[in-house]
Amino acid sequence: MRALLAGNWKMNGLKASLGEIRAMARAFADEPPTGDILICPPATLIGEAVRAADGSIIAIGGQDCHPQPSGAFTGDISAEMLRDSGATAVIVGHSERRHYHAESNQTVAAKAMAAHRASLLVIVCVGETESERMAGRALDVVTGQLRESLPAELEGSQTAVAYEPVWAIGTGRTPTAGEILQMHEAIRAALLARHGAEGAEIRILYGGSVKPENAGEILAIPHVDGALIGGASLKAADFLRIARAAPRR
Ligand code: PGA
Repeated sequence: MRALLAGNWKMNGLKASLGEIRAMARAFADEPPTGDILICPPATLIGEAVRAADGSIIAIGGQDCHPQPSGAFTGDISAEMLRDSGATAVIVGHSERRHYHAESNQTVAAKAMAAHRASLLVIVCVGETESERMAGRALDVVTGQLRESLPAELEGSQTAVAYEPVWAIGTGRTPTAGEILQMHEAIRAALLARHGAEGAEIRILYGGSVKPENAGEILAIPHVDGALIGGASLKAADFLRIARAAPRR
């Protein structure tokens, strides 16, 4: 399966940042990447990012969506609105949403269903905290999040799971290659057990302090089908080096 390299800009980016997307588009036109490329800017930039990426291999996505298609939900954005603005993907259940907005697994599953309803590729994030890992509970926590955050019915080719250990996000720390392999194997087994053939098509991304310096090693680990990249996706030069590190599978 083709790798997915997804950039999560979080609450970063003004109009001036669109130049980074244009620079990425030019570089990928000169030398096409081996994987699929997605950039998720803040909602305010989605429409312009879609135009900046027009005609290129870069897809544009949102960072969150509301479960409902429309209604009295001040400040929220629906999956249909993302689609309408030209986005083709959305991240749901990022640990920052789970933590700062108290999103439960059930809420995340409802958002994933909304993404399917609007024909968006959905990236569902899971990951243990440092204390959960120290207590030897990482596998249990992640498989539990998966069970409850993924809808029972899903389209595997339109779904990705991002394993993002909370303690690795924005810290410069990463699990060992062995720890990533063990977790991704467990995630694949859980997806196959619950979703059968659809589960085989779900891409499993690693996220948390992916940088140009470690991307080659991380993306070469079996069962790592791509990466979700925060800080290092803000600059075209860094993101391009990461995308170029993805092996052809
Ligand atoms: P980071 O963020 O690459 O800056 O660690 C990853 C993420 O939160 O998706």
